[in-house]
Amino acid sequence: SMDRILEINETDMTVTVEAGCTWAALYEALRAKGLRTPFWGTLSGLQATIGGGMSQNCVFWGSGRYGTAAQSCIAMEVVLADGTILNTGAKFTRPYGPDLTGIFLADTGSLGMKANITLRLVPEAEAHGYASFSFETHDDTLAALGEIERSGVSTECFGFDPSLNAIRMKRDSLTSDAKALGKMMKKQGSVWGAIKEGAKVVAAGRDFMDEAKFSLHVLTEARTQAAADDDLEHARKLALANGATETENTIPKIVRANPFGPLNSMLGPEGQRWAPVHGLLPHSRAVACYDAIKTLFAHHQDEMDALGIFTGTLVSGVSGSGAIIEPCLYWPDASNPLHRDTVEDAHLAKLPQLDANPEAWAFAQKMKQALVDLFYEQGAAHLQIGRTYRYRDSLDPAADALLVHLKKSLDPRGLMNPGSLGL
Ligand SMILES: Cc1cc2nc3c(=O)[nH]c(=O)nc-3n(C[C@H](O)[C@H](O)[C@H](O)COP(=O)(O)OP(=O)(O)OC[C@H]3O[C@@H](n4cnc5c(N)ncnc54)[C@H](O)[C@@H]3O)c2cc1C
Repeated sequence: SMDRILEINETDMTVTVEAGCTWAALYEALRAKGLRTPFWGTLSGLQATIGGGMSQNCVFWGSGRYGTAAQSCIAMEVVLADGTILNTGAKFTRPYGPDLTGIFLADTGSLGMKANITLRLVPEAEAHGYASFSFETHDDTLAALGEIERSGVSTECFGFDPSLNAIRMKRDSLTSDAKALGKMMKKQGSVWGAIKEGAKVVAAGRDFMDEAKFSLHVLTEARTQAAADDDLEHARKLALANGATETENTIPKIVRANPFGPLNSMLGPEGQRWAPVHGLLPHSRAVACYDAIKTLFAHHQDEMDALGIFTGTLVSGVSGSGAIIEPCLYWPDASNPLHRDTVEDAHLAKLPQLDANPEAWAFAQKMKQALVDLFYEQGAAHLQIGRTYRYRDSLDPAADALLVHLKKSLDPRGLMNPGSLGL
């Protein structure tokens, strides 16, 4: 399955893995040495691979400080369509000359098959800070998120709209939260801390978050606790200056305690289907884009209500880029074998089994396409371009010609992931 870690080079601070290695496996192996990659995985990292991450480009762990997955890559060994093995560059620095590594990053597999990947290493953080806030509006939430991203103090900064808050609350049980926290504290060697933190979550109950509002969660990291706290204090000032109320910091603690949890959020709280659609916007255009999404949903509210379709929106900061806005569509429909394979059996057993619902499915697809077009009009960029997002429409003619030329040169018979990137 090509999932080995080939070399951890502690002198040059690089790690080389086979493309099928998961983020979770790499994280565990590096943690034992006090090391980490700068971007260190998606929330799906229990199963998502580093090859997939380099091909899709992705965000989450570390993105508030280090940007997207592709930005942590130094070099790759790629197998071309005709079997040629191509090394993209020096295995300790990037770029050396024109960025040949970059050509294959975020290509959604359309230019070649990644075999080995070399990533940068950084020391694993020794101290952490966590804070949560609630806001009345998305404008304030995005303003705070933008200021926190620009200040560089947080390693992860993400937020949920009121609907997504409610969905999360429905899905996750209190006991699993307390257990996750206990596990984290034990890992850090503090049994007493584990009991205290677990008890705090139980005491705060389900009321630690004002579900009716927007939430924003901020994580900081540093070599010392004083530094992590100082970064957190700075983020707190920025949030409060934008109208935030501070709430219990349970969510960021829980998520960090189990960074690569089971992929149960693939289905909605009552077993609904889930389709996340996202855009990456510069901060200057994030609010306008969010407004446009709200207008789109409001316009179709009656039809969505009639079909049992609902939405929930996630936002997060990406260092040096801006804000991800990710509206998720949920609709009542049957699950498929991929869901049944991926979601934990115990979780699946608790969910209602829904019947196939072609009408709701068709409307959800229509809404998905409307969001794709909306993001295009708003000038968003995307991860996971695949066959979904309008990447080629966004290129000027000269850039598009170069892309087509590259594809022809690397894969003349169009064998590699045909249709992806619109090629
Ligand atoms: C519950 C859940 C949570 C998620 N959380 C996040 C998140 O936090 N952040 C985020 O960005 N995304 C997230 N995702 C989306 C998804 O997990 C990511 O896009 C992830 O990077 C996919 O990795 P994979 O290994 O599963 O790739 P796959 O889905 O198997 O492949 C993705 C694409 O890459 C290509 N590819 C894969 N490996 C190679 C290779 N070796 N060479 C060439 N091409 C290759 C495939 O052909 C395909 O086009 C989430 C998904 C789920 C279901």
